[in-house]
Amino acid sequence: MGYKSDIEIAQDAKMKRINDIAASIGIPDRYIENYGRYKAKIDYRYYTDELADRPDAKLVLVTAINPTPAGEGKTTTTIGVADAMNRLGRKTMVALREPSLGPVFGVKGGAAGGGYAQVVPMEDINLHFTGDLHAIGAANNLIAAMLDNHIHQGNALDIDTNKVTWRRCVDMNDRQLRSIVDGLGSKADGVTRQDGFDITVASEIMAVFCLAKDITDLKERVARIIVAYSRTGKPVTAGDLNAQGAVAALLKDALKPNLVQTLEGTPAFIHGGPFANIAHGCNSVIATKMGMKLADYMVTEAGFGADLGAEKFVDIKCRMSGLRPNAVILVATIKALKYNGGVAKADLQEENLDALTKGIPNLLKHIENITKVYGLPAVVAINKFPTDTQRELDLVREKCRELGVHVALSDVWAGGGAGGRELAEEVIRLCEGESTMRFVYDTEASIQDKIEAITGKVYGADGVDYTPKALREIRNLESIGLGNLPVCMAKNQYSLTDDPKKLGRPEGFRITIRDIAASAGAGFLVALTGDIMKMPGLPKVPSAEKIDVDEDGVISGLF
Ligand code: ADP
Ligand code: MG
Repeated sequence: MGYKSDIEIAQDAKMKRINDIAASIGIPDRYIENYGRYKAKIDYRYYTDELADRPDAKLVLVTAINPTPAGEGKTTTTIGVADAMNRLGRKTMVALREPSLGPVFGVKGGAAGGGYAQVVPMEDINLHFTGDLHAIGAANNLIAAMLDNHIHQGNALDIDTNKVTWRRCVDMNDRQLRSIVDGLGSKADGVTRQDGFDITVASEIMAVFCLAKDITDLKERVARIIVAYSRTGKPVTAGDLNAQGAVAALLKDALKPNLVQTLEGTPAFIHGGPFANIAHGCNSVIATKMGMKLADYMVTEAGFGADLGAEKFVDIKCRMSGLRPNAVILVATIKALKYNGGVAKADLQEENLDALTKGIPNLLKHIENITKVYGLPAVVAINKFPTDTQRELDLVREKCRELGVHVALSDVWAGGGAGGRELAEEVIRLCEGESTMRFVYDTEASIQDKIEAITGKVYGADGVDYTPKALREIRNLESIGLGNLPVCMAKNQYSLTDDPKKLGRPEGFRITIRDIAASAGAGFLVALTGDIMKMPGLPKVPSAEKIDVDEDGVISGLF
């Protein structure tokens, strides 16, 4: 076939100095903090001192149908369409999440786009980058250390050691740390208790970091985080431990958006990266907002499919920050449509027009959700893979046209911005109006009504069942005054139901809420529909085994 790998394409790129990229969108030198030649942080004081009063760019959200396990190319499409819009003379920026080391060394690989639609330097972006994730890990673990120290030093807050909800974290897929016993040894070695680690992107600090407007808001949110309950059942917060100042101090540089470039020189902010299940799954509010003052269009991605990432983008990120998207790109692939039409993973490469037709209702449900529930104009981007046949591509296009759905072929993986022209033109057209976004529910509704609004309107469920534990917790959350927070659904990404095997557009199903927990600092309640893994493990053959670096520091094997 002879396709170059993502890292080979990225390493062949002629990058511009990051200061030139910054200058291209008018960022004054005094706000640029260089991390080498090709990465920089941009001081948030730029926003408060000079940008706040400027008009906002049009905001474009990239989401997807229910995916295959490999990912459908949202990041790739986000980057490619922005390059295409710049080619059309529209000043466009990109805002994305920062990759976590977990997936990089696990199965999924990097998260800096693919083919000729990538952000660079891709090795750096995928490995440590500017150190934000380590800072977030340190901030998380500072709270853990202060909490256990508080218990050790006499436990004035009467913390129940069986009800410590705060966990330690590290940015690595490491199942060995999922459940541990710590504080072993003598009395001087701390209190022995059951504990565990989450991956850093699953920590509430990451969600707080991404939703905070500024340092003050960051501190207030950290202070509200519930870390444990007392023996009388009272919530104990990070504020009770007086941790918020030091936590914010650890995060003050991390909170500055990271500027890099696409292969075609489009400026991109890559900043913050919360999980899209137990958290809201999109990059920082600070980066999105700053970028929207620097360009005329801002293209950004939300994790997983439009049932998860896009819903949370609207109901959590937009609600909290005042952002309003103007248009939505729904990424679909021939493979994922066939997968939703019942084809096994191993057979997705083969032409199958029947299965493709059977998968289209999934696409249609997402389009209905975006246009009718979220109230936003949408275009389907068919992300073209080398294995797609012309008949398959034609069929999807035809079906979309028949159903009155806007559709554009996107060939940005193979062709960069030049392959995204049709999509870019459609996006620009959809952005002409003012945003017509609607929330799925009102936060003042009861917790159960909010859950039922999401599961009914967005997933298409007939109703919701609650375990006794979930009902108990709902009553507890209402009694401690958290009943009016938005709800962050933790659900698998493959199905509109809570069963990852029910693909397509299922009907006649109910959703089970197993448990619900407060992320009081992030400002949402997490409703769990299944076991959500907060500390993943590595697969039998981790992609880490293929990664290497030579004597000159050149990395290979990343994808
Ligand atoms: P998502 O953001 O939806 O998870 P990504 O954009 O990260 O998906 O893409 C997932 C993987 O698929 C990446 O390795 C990328 O290189 C690859 N990929 C994306 N689009 C294409 C395409 N059109 N052809 C071939 N590979 C692709
Ligand atoms: Mg992505």
